[in-house]
Amino acid sequence: MQNDHPALPGIMDRISQAALRSGRKEQAITLVAVSKKKPIEAIVAAYEAGVRHFGENRAEELEEKAKALQDLHELKWHFIGNLQTRQSGIIARHAHYFHAIDRLKIAQRLSRQLTELNRNLSVFIQVNVSGEVSKSGFPCDQWQQQPEQSEALIQVCKEVAGLPGLNFLGLMTIAPFNAPEDTYREIFRTMAALSSYVGEQIPDLSAPHLSMGMSGDFEIAIEEGATYVRIGTAVFGPRE
Ligand SMILES: *Cc1c(COP(=O)(O)O)cnc(C)c1O
Repeated sequence: MQNDHPALPGIMDRISQAALRSGRKEQAITLVAVSKKKPIEAIVAAYEAGVRHFGENRAEELEEKAKALQDLHELKWHFIGNLQTRQSGIIARHAHYFHAIDRLKIAQRLSRQLTELNRNLSVFIQVNVSGEVSKSGFPCDQWQQQPEQSEALIQVCKEVAGLPGLNFLGLMTIAPFNAPEDTYREIFRTMAALSSYVGEQIPDLSAPHLSMGMSGDFEIAIEEGATYVRIGTAVFGPRE
């Protein structure tokens, strides 16, 4: 990582310190630089500073940027938003990762499209462990008390893991906005427990990945076991 980017060296340092506190190496954590609403030049600058993973939450924007930057061969696109059915083709064609599977149907549709394109997509299933009604994802706010919740999730994970073209990595969550630190920690800890449970139940998923943590909470997320952090504002500055 070069040192001439205004924010990245500091972020990488915070990621590696948090990884050490969790007993892991910084290489265990993937930074997904969330470039939504940011111009191509900002992405190129981060790429030149060593970033390879970029996140977008609107399909057309991802497509436009992927086409403009197709010569950056090591660049991987992460779609981190909720995907409308009619836009799944864009993601099948251009994305390398999709973090927010929130229904089985979208996974099945992507699988068919990917198979036709002879492409692969690494995917996370989005879960909601905070019970916030505004958040998408499979409801898991009561998974330890209500076996129906964890059974339904395991069922979906198994089906997704078996779909051709999809490489099932693990779970993703979005923590509530502006919560106290204790709340974040509790949510991320619950996610880590749910993730190990999923890892035990799904064959071939001995070390599930965990996508959690944003600008305001990524260090806590890493301390609790995140392997992918999605960081926008802290890398690129505030969005309009
Ligand atoms: C925008 C976004 C992020 C990044 O948010 P910041 O607070 O700017 O770091 C992460 N995850 C998802 C799903 C997002 O939509």
